Amino acid sequence: MENRDNSAEHAAELRRRAEETALKNAVQSPDDIEFLSLDRIKKTLHELRVHQIELEMQNEELRRAQAELDAARARYFDLYDLAPVGYITITEPGMILEANLTAATLLGSPRGTLARNPISHFILKEDQDSYYLHRKQLFETGKPQAWELRMVKKDGTIFWAHLQATVAEGEAEARGCRYVLSDITHLKQAEAILKKGKEDAESASKAKSEFLNNIAHDFRTPMHAIMGLSTFFQSEKSTPKQREYANIINKRSKGLLTLIEELLDVSRLDAGKLELRSIEFDLKESVLEAVNAGTDELMGKEVTLACSVEEGLPRIKADKVRFSQVLTNLIGNAIKYTDKGEIVVNVTRQPESCPEGPGPERKCRVRVSVKDNGLGIPRDKQEQIFEAYTRFQEFDGTRERGGVGLGLYITKTLVEQMGGTISVVSEVGVGSEFIVVLDLDLAGAGK
Ligand code: ADP
Repeated sequence: MENRDNSAEHAAELRRRAEETALKNAVQSPDDIEFLSLDRIKKTLHELRVHQIELEMQNEELRRAQAELDAARARYFDLYDLAPVGYITITEPGMILEANLTAATLLGSPRGTLARNPISHFILKEDQDSYYLHRKQLFETGKPQAWELRMVKKDGTIFWAHLQATVAEGEAEARGCRYVLSDITHLKQAEAILKKGKEDAESASKAKSEFLNNIAHDFRTPMHAIMGLSTFFQSEKSTPKQREYANIINKRSKGLLTLIEELLDVSRLDAGKLELRSIEFDLKESVLEAVNAGTDELMGKEVTLACSVEEGLPRIKADKVRFSQVLTNLIGNAIKYTDKGEIVVNVTRQPESCPEGPGPERKCRVRVSVKDNGLGIPRDKQEQIFEAYTRFQEFDGTRERGGVGLGLYITKTLVEQMGGTISVVSEVGVGSEFIVVLDLDLAGAGK
């Protein structure tokens, strides 16, 4: 409305000035209309009409351009004012020059009252240093700055803000800067909840590990006593019935003792307290020991256990106990999940990775495979079996297979601690092959 009034006034003013000029020209003009021919007058009139139409058309065009400009300006202000982030323009010393509506809402002050207020009034006392530091860096380096700090609304409410600052070089005005301001309080709250949840989970996991560790220790001693006694009753002097019962007690105690050792290992691994102790030993001997122990476990099963160890395997330096544990776990599983058939343990080395002669960094890549033709593992479970407490085929209708799903988790963690890898190739009804690849230090090497 105001715009229309203005342009009407403007048009009237133009008209007044045009008439003045025409009058002046008429006075100065040497051409007197009385001396013009009719033909010349007609031509001049035509010319004037064309000029008038031309001017009207130009005027219409100008009006349209003006309307478009007004609409664009209104759109720009809508975008600026209602942007999802606050925009604030500030002088170099920190006085607010201009702010959009979002910034005013964020700071809890009417827009009109913001100008000429120092921005530092809206910054929490504890975060003033951070504000001044970034402002100093902004003007010293000229590089945009972005940081998080706590701001205070006019009513005293504190909120977390993310500020992005850039230097604004005005043409006539002095140097200042522009801030883009967003409220990140929800983000900060979510972060705090997440952090607390993580801390709680860590302390719960620590408590669980400690509990497992304590209870496993308490169980271990009596279990050893029970096993000792059951071995005593397995002797010739016992009756066949006593021997049968003693066998059952012994087998179950062994299972429980394995579980106790697994729980202890898991609590040590989870607490990062399992340390490897390297000693020099003969690889072949160690493999054969594990295979012999496995043979004792077959106990009348229709399963054979064969072993093939490449000739010339070197003496190595590694944690012998943990190396045997890896092998024993894999052989134990192969026995547990094979009812009838053959298990083959195969140990080879990669000759190119086992250099001859002395040297501080001498290593040997060894590949250990334990292959069975037992139940096999469904493809979609082959990754999960390495996670703690994950197990399948607990009951396959014919017999119960002991265990709690910790063996492969421990095995994988140990292999990885030794710097190696473990993988499985398996097919249900055909069998499984577990492959461990280790880069072992050769005996006499530097470490
Ligand atoms: P556990 O044997 O105590 O259940 P493991 O962690 O050693 O725990 O093994 C996890 C699961 O992986 C087992 O429950 C079993 O389902 C599967 N598994 C492991 N080894 C074999 C194997 N040789 N053949 C078939 N399934 C296996």
